[in-house]
Amino acid sequence: MMHNQDTIVAIATAWGEAGIAIVRISGPSAMELSKSVLRFKAGSGNNPPPRLMRLAYLTGDDGNAIDQVLTVYFQSPKSYTGEDLVEIHTHGGTLAAQLCVEALIRRGARPAEPGEFTRRAFLNGRIDLPQAESVLGIIRSRSEEALRAAGRTLSGEFSALASGIREELLTMQSTLEVELDYPEEISSSHEGGEGDEKLLASISALRSNLSDLRDRCSVGLLLREGIRVALTGRPNAGKSSLLNALLKQARAIVTAIPGTTRDVIEETAAWRGVPIRLVDTAGLRDIRAQDEIEAMGIERTLEELRRADICLWVMDISKPLDDEDKSYLANLRGKEHIIILNKTDLTASHPLAVSEDDIRDAVSLNETPIILPISAQTGEGLERLKDAILSKAIGSGVLDSGLNVTARQLSEINESISCLTMAEIAMTEGKGQDITAGLLGSARECLERLLGLSHDDALLDSIFSRFCVGK
Ligand code: GDP
Repeated sequence: MMHNQDTIVAIATAWGEAGIAIVRISGPSAMELSKSVLRFKAGSGNNPPPRLMRLAYLTGDDGNAIDQVLTVYFQSPKSYTGEDLVEIHTHGGTLAAQLCVEALIRRGARPAEPGEFTRRAFLNGRIDLPQAESVLGIIRSRSEEALRAAGRTLSGEFSALASGIREELLTMQSTLEVELDYPEEISSSHEGGEGDEKLLASISALRSNLSDLRDRCSVGLLLREGIRVALTGRPNAGKSSLLNALLKQARAIVTAIPGTTRDVIEETAAWRGVPIRLVDTAGLRDIRAQDEIEAMGIERTLEELRRADICLWVMDISKPLDDEDKSYLANLRGKEHIIILNKTDLTASHPLAVSEDDIRDAVSLNETPIILPISAQTGEGLERLKDAILSKAIGSGVLDSGLNVTARQLSEINESISCLTMAEIAMTEGKGQDITAGLLGSARECLERLLGLSHDDALLDSIFSRFCVGK
């Protein structure tokens, strides 16, 4: 089914100097429009078979050749978008491709919106929504593991699992509804409590399948977005030294992300394929600062601590705890954190000033914080620290089975799980079958939004506007 009558055009490759640049044209006039800017070699015919690369000249409005190009035509519905689609491969940089796009627009094509090719692929049923979103996952992947997770979703693995669960929900819900509509049949088909027990067991099995799927998706999200780790502590505890030591050991992907200020430095490194975004805050030395600029720095530090998935509190093991330390430690309650006792190399020559018990008392009586002795200088304990960060963030998830999803999809899965939990409670409490059926229906609707079986323009706008033009 065709949803769009416009023919759209865009450069699909990255801007800048390169071997080739690819112009993509999709829509009912793609073939005709592309022919109007191309001249094929004499005798090679004007109606090429689909999926065959052909050599041609890109011509200007005066008919003179601008560039020698390769062009390929995909006939609807067997194309990325499901529409007639033409690719023109010009030479790179971008000028020849840009002239080609401008000529096509003068002849009636429309410049494509961000992600519009992929949006059309979705609207024309070529791919489902999780697959479309995983295309963005592939574009954005910064580690091999993240790329594999996106590849698994693109191949349909995630959709197959989610659709399977949705279908089972549909069957359960309709069985329940039949029983509600024809109550006289119940007595013969399912005897009292026995049927309910079976249904309860099936709901609980589905919820557990969905939880497994959620765990794999959480890992996928971490693989793509990374774990945000804030380093904080008092001045001279060794935050910067720790940051540098961690970066030296890991494969750094990005250094000095633009937009960092003197207050907050962010670096990203990969450990076992998971991007770890290390944020070195200015520390809390100036927590009582009077000066306006310093106060802004503190505000940013506090904001970073709020945003972080895990907070590393760095302490100098050679300095005894004072009241200020204790008040900061108490603030870590309720936040995922790891307490670092840095400078263990000094303990050979100095007596230990901080004990783990002192810290446990200061943090909370009922929490058991992770406390790791390390030395940023000698590297002692750093491996254990990295493993502790990964296991805190990933929990029981397995790194090599991650599936690419977006935060939106993850929240639909969570919502679906809570509907199933509520359905189980409703059944155990003996609430009516209509309530259970309603909750099963809500759980199913979450999966339908997730899979894009039900969607609206606003949702599609928010998904595809994050894509680049030409994708
Ligand atoms: P920050 O203010 O928390 O960022 O602390 P720095 O990383 O600048 O470190 C403060 C001082 O402690 C520097 O002189 C570091 O060389 C020293 N330092 C950091 N880590 C260690 C360590 O593991 N052992 C020893 N002996 N000194 C360290």
